Amino acid sequence: MAAIHMKNIVKQYGDGFPAVNDISIDVADGEFMILVGPSGCGKSTLLRMIVGLEDITSGDMLIDGKRVNDLAPRDRNLAMVFQNYALYPHLSVYENIAFPLRLARKLSESEIDDKVHEASRLLELDEHLQRKPGNLSGGQRQRVAMGRAIVRQADAFLFDEPLSNLDAKLRGQMRTEISRLQKRLGITTVYVTHDQTEAMTLGDRVAVLKRGLLQQLATPRELYTNP
Ligand code: ADP
Ligand code: ADP
Repeated sequence: MAAIHMKNIVKQYGDGFPAVNDISIDVADGEFMILVGPSGCGKSTLLRMIVGLEDITSGDMLIDGKRVNDLAPRDRNLAMVFQNYALYPHLSVYENIAFPLRLARKLSESEIDDKVHEASRLLELDEHLQRKPGNLSGGQRQRVAMGRAIVRQADAFLFDEPLSNLDAKLRGQMRTEISRLQKRLGITTVYVTHDQTEAMTLGDRVAVLKRGLLQQLATPRELYTNP
């Protein structure tokens, strides 16, 4: 895991109002940071700049003390957990989790096996290793996606509205699950949402964005007492 340091980050598309306008946020090692705000406020753009899917117009992005502005996504060692989990439907849970390790070609088969089992125990997926994603619940799929990130020892998890397609009941369960797992794993997390409930219940701190600007950066408790 690693700290993420954003300093005076700007994203300018074309010549309009900047999508992200001079935002500085420090996410500490192991911290769960929420980015919240209405549609169009720049939160996805900021997340995509952290991952490296979007160029930074100006400012500095440091991960684990290293400037990553010019690094490709694969060289940043971050794990994006997408809304649709991006699992391979034809592969078993085991193979989905093993996938990044096989791709890296650095480990023997038995080392891969050890890592997959360790991650699946942590995520309580050991009973489901031979199943295909299509036969899993939404929560289990989310855990497989996190398993893939854990085996490659990603420095941080990045979530972009992972629950927005789920019904209210499942969303509540998943909230609890993500928060529990994040605490257990202690992995640095940045989580984008437009949902106030998620923002106030999931994270250690909440960054409130509005029209590309950072309006507030506070704990949920501070936001409750001083909204
Ligand atoms: P949010 O995730 O908060 O909904 P976005 O980061 O997606 O907001 O968008 C922030 C602003 O940047 C919006 O005004 C949006 O229209 C604009 N924007 C996002 N992506 C692009 C792009 N690829 N080209 C031009 N403008 C964009
Ligand atoms: P290349 O530069 O060889 O095309 P990249 O590593 O830049 O490959 O990534 C290609 C695509 O893979 C990206 O556009 C993105 O969709 C996806 N990707 C790679 N790494 C990540 C990551 N850590 N998080 C999210 N998406 C990623």
